[in-house]
Amino acid sequence: MSSFGRLLSGRRRKFRVYYDEAFRLPLSGAEAGPAALETRRADDAVHYLLHERAVDAAEVINPEPVSYEALARVHHGGYLEALHEAGTLASIFAVDPSDVYVDEVVRSVRLGCGATLDGARFSLKTGRPALNLFGGFHHAAPSRGAGFCALNDVATAIKALRAEGFSGRVAVLDFDFHPPDGTAECLGKDPSVWLGSVSGVSWGPLEGVDETVLPPGTGDIEYLEAVEALLSRMPPVELAFILAGADVLAGDRLGQLAISVGGARRRELLVAHRLGRLPQVWLAAGGYSPHAWKVLAGVGLTLAFDSDAPIPFEYNPLGARMLGIAHSLKSETLGDLSFVTEADVADVLGLPREGPRRLLNFYTAEGLEYALERYRVLPLVRRLGFGSLRVSIDRVGACDRGRLLGRDMATGQQVTLIELEVERRRLGEGTFLFINWLSLRNPRARFSKLRPQLPGQEVPGLGLAREMTMILGLMAKRLHVDGVAFRPSWFHMAWTARHGVRFLDPRRQGRFEALGRDLRDVPLLEATRAVAEGRVLLNGEPYEWEADEMVRWQDDHVPDDGAQVAAERERCHFTVSPVAPSAPARSG
Ligand SMILES: [Zn+2]
Repeated sequence: MSSFGRLLSGRRRKFRVYYDEAFRLPLSGAEAGPAALETRRADDAVHYLLHERAVDAAEVINPEPVSYEALARVHHGGYLEALHEAGTLASIFAVDPSDVYVDEVVRSVRLGCGATLDGARFSLKTGRPALNLFGGFHHAAPSRGAGFCALNDVATAIKALRAEGFSGRVAVLDFDFHPPDGTAECLGKDPSVWLGSVSGVSWGPLEGVDETVLPPGTGDIEYLEAVEALLSRMPPVELAFILAGADVLAGDRLGQLAISVGGARRRELLVAHRLGRLPQVWLAAGGYSPHAWKVLAGVGLTLAFDSDAPIPFEYNPLGARMLGIAHSLKSETLGDLSFVTEADVADVLGLPREGPRRLLNFYTAEGLEYALERYRVLPLVRRLGFGSLRVSIDRVGACDRGRLLGRDMATGQQVTLIELEVERRRLGEGTFLFINWLSLRNPRARFSKLRPQLPGQEVPGLGLAREMTMILGLMAKRLHVDGVAFRPSWFHMAWTARHGVRFLDPRRQGRFEALGRDLRDVPLLEATRAVAEGRVLLNGEPYEWEADEMVRWQDDHVPDDGAQVAAERERCHFTVSPVAPSAPARSG
């Protein structure tokens, strides 16, 4: 589809993308929090733009962090100082202070601001557009941050350009769902800057902003009319910043407009056509839905190909990235099959085993550590504030145990960060990589109102569950087993894993689907607690959670048991009772 776009436009327009791995905020609770931040958005977008050859690798630039000198032209000294306290950052990013490793969070934000400034310099010099995959922090005001915005990148860039001698008029076109309150406070009185906004909510009048506020539920047609009208009112300028917010999408967790991904692309095309060859810097701004990355990637596709060709709906950028890495990892490196260890000899001779062992008779500790580095798990764990990372392998009962151990850089304490117990297990008609235990632990983080404790959770997680799930699937593939299996001890575990995963027993799957159907309006935390506390009734009788085997088959193998699943699903009706009935009995 995208090649069609390329053919249409003939050739690619060159532009720069600013990206850094550190654009992913090092907040292990960001995904679990109330906003459920899409922390992988920049990673997803840059992957797709490279994959589609919208940019060359040489056009993807790692920015420098913005200087404190530049920040001080916009932000008050007291605020910049307070930014080095975990509490200040925690309230801006809606996480618990225990989840903030200050230096790394500040580094992420400074890199985002540095990218906006360097993108503006580049665009003014070359006339080519720049796209910053982490910028548009429009709620940050001179003396406070808010709404995931700690520092105002656009205001900082404009003041820095002024200090460097640029005197041209500037436009800031803000298409985020939320109004640019921080930017108005920073720049609203500046006659050399024109601020325009189309948003979906009013926070009261904003000084110096040409503001259009659309009602909730506004769709593509009315939205694009408002965008066009704003563009027609924009005065002549010499530089434009564009906040291409993705929180205008229908289904956004924090937005209430109903724009389609295609509608957002038409917005970018309208803006790009209106701006033409004007120096311009495009910014990510907000976006809190699983499709938010497509809006960001869509800006790049607009700039490169002037194309409205859609990104395939089901494209999974994290999966594609992981698979690419898996293909580049050689089995010999992971399993170190080139030589026989003393322990292997001991096994053959039936002697007590000493020295290093292998996980599943394959992975060495070195091999696992290398794989976790290449899958970018270790770099992220380091940015959460843990160092001296190493993998250890030993045995617990019938299972092999692999652990990621490290040191808390703040306290110097030795900690366990990942713990995995696995074995090969025969289940039904297949052999599976059976996960007996998997724990991703951020020992520094605390449970709080922003990050409630789920049943069975000892310590908050690392925010890496999606990566680990994919790595386990890829391990199963490498070991030539039929898939991955586990027993979900709690309802929320089964619910979180449900896509592509099924209970092995079709009747058990039917009951699970009925439970999901009947509890669909209950928030997950409440639902899993109700199930755990025995407050859920099945056809009027107390229901106890059944921790049976769930499996993810390799290669989308779907068992032919749909009729049995459906029959059980229809038979079962679940209700939640407000108080626990006495003595819950096993049911089903
Ligand atoms: Zn927003």
